[in-house]
Formats: sequence, structure tokens, C-alpha cells
Amino acid sequence: MSNTNLPEKLTNFTAYPQTEQACRDELSQANFDIDSFQQNRQRCSLSSCHGMCCHYGVHVNQETAETIQKVVEEEAEFFKSIGLDLPKEVIIDDEEYEDFPVEKFEWKGMSSVKKTALKEKPFSRLVNDYPKHFKDTACVFLLDDSRCGLQELSKAKGLHPWYYKPLPCWLFPIFIAPGEKQPEIFLPSPEAEPWYLPEYDYDGFFTKVPCGQYSECGQIGYILLQEELKFLSAIVGRNFGQEIQDAIANSAESD
Ligand code: SF4
Repeated sequence: MSNTNLPEKLTNFTAYPQTEQACRDELSQANFDIDSFQQNRQRCSLSSCHGMCCHYGVHVNQETAETIQKVVEEEAEFFKSIGLDLPKEVIIDDEEYEDFPVEKFEWKGMSSVKKTALKEKPFSRLVNDYPKHFKDTACVFLLDDSRCGLQELSKAKGLHPWYYKPLPCWLFPIFIAPGEKQPEIFLPSPEAEPWYLPEYDYDGFFTKVPCGQYSECGQIGYILLQEELKFLSAIVGRNFGQEIQDAIANSAESD
């Protein structure tokens, strides 16, 4: 992707300035579903989920695909040193894309036909009640102890932990749907599971992993996910945390 049309001044929260620009351009007016963030959630426990949300890798946009491929070539020694035996092509075209075009279901700013490559991982033996429609595969950046190699690279370079991590990964389990007029940012519930697609024989994703499910002993979503909301706010130029606080204050006043 050429950089010639980019504005001169780019905010650099991540390694993906064009993606950040798309966020500013398209998410500044996005519908933010405040009510959905009132659901309880819990943080994942890597010792029990083993990073199962990474079983199919992640779809990424063109800029993210190109940057990750380049970073892997430049930082080959680092990835080797943390135990990742990466293939030459860490980004591939999704073979199932034609039958299952992700951009139809998720905001186009963060995905395309490109995705991270996969390796084998026996999740179905490791995770209790592993969903039948999830595969025994994992993103090539998933470490044996279920940390993300791209997050580890960011930390090793003294950068924000999500600097190299693709947007859909650090945002998870928050989702951005294309919406009818504007993109929609929300915390999926079972009733609003974005990947419940019976026509594709697919039984859901967000609400099928522990950190995307209701948790009695968890925390209210907007508290638990405040770091994610803060980082998204900084990129987009909104204050999602404040929008929630204002909505709560308004509703208390009108009660
Ligand atoms: S890039 Fe990291 S967080 Fe995203 S799917 Fe791969 S291992 Fe998981």
C-alpha cells in the first residue's frame, strides 16, 4: 500500500497509521452501544482458555498485513528467541473468504481477505467444552504459553503492548460492525453475536470464548474493558469512557 496519500502528521499509537486514520475518519461518528457495556465479563485466564480466541488467527487489513510481514523479516531473531518458529509467509489469503466474506460482517477498516497463517494446536484436548465448530489450529504468533508474539515484540521494544498487535486482537471482545449508516461499536451478547451465522453453519465466536461470555463473578464491561476503550478513544479522538459516564449520570437524573 502506498503512503503517498497519507496526511503529513500521523498520530502514532500503533504500527498502523493508516488504520488509525481510518478509525478517526469512520469511527468518530460511529454508534457506540453504551448499554451493551453494562454486561458482566471476565478477563481470560490463559491457563484454562489457552488462547482459544486465536484458533483461526485474525483477519487483518492490507496495511496490517504488509507491516506484520515486514516486521517478521526484520525481527526474525526476536521471534526465534521467544520460541516462535514462524513460516516464511505469516500472512495468507483466507481460502474460505469467498464463501465467508468477513467484511460483510465486520467493519471494513480492520479486515480483508488477508489473515495470519495457522499452525496446529490441539485445543479440543486442552480446553473443556471446546466448541465443535472451532478448529484445532492457532495463529502462528500464539506462543506455547498462549501469549501473543506481536504483543511480546511491542513490550520488548519498550512500546505500548498493543503497538504491533492487530486492532481486532487488542479490541477483543469489543466488536465493530459495519452498521447500516455508521459502524457500530458494541460488546456482543448471545442475542447480538456477530458470528452466529446459521446460513454458514457457524455457531458464533465472541460469545463462545470465556472472556466474551457473561460472568457472574466478573466485572461490568465498561470497567473491565476500560484500557481497551481508552486506547480506542485515543486513536479515534472520542472519550468512550466519558460517554458511558455521561449516559449513566443522565439516566440517574431522569430516574
Ligand atoms: S496476532 Fe496475537 S492476539 Fe492476534 S490472533 Fe495472533 S496470537 Fe492471537
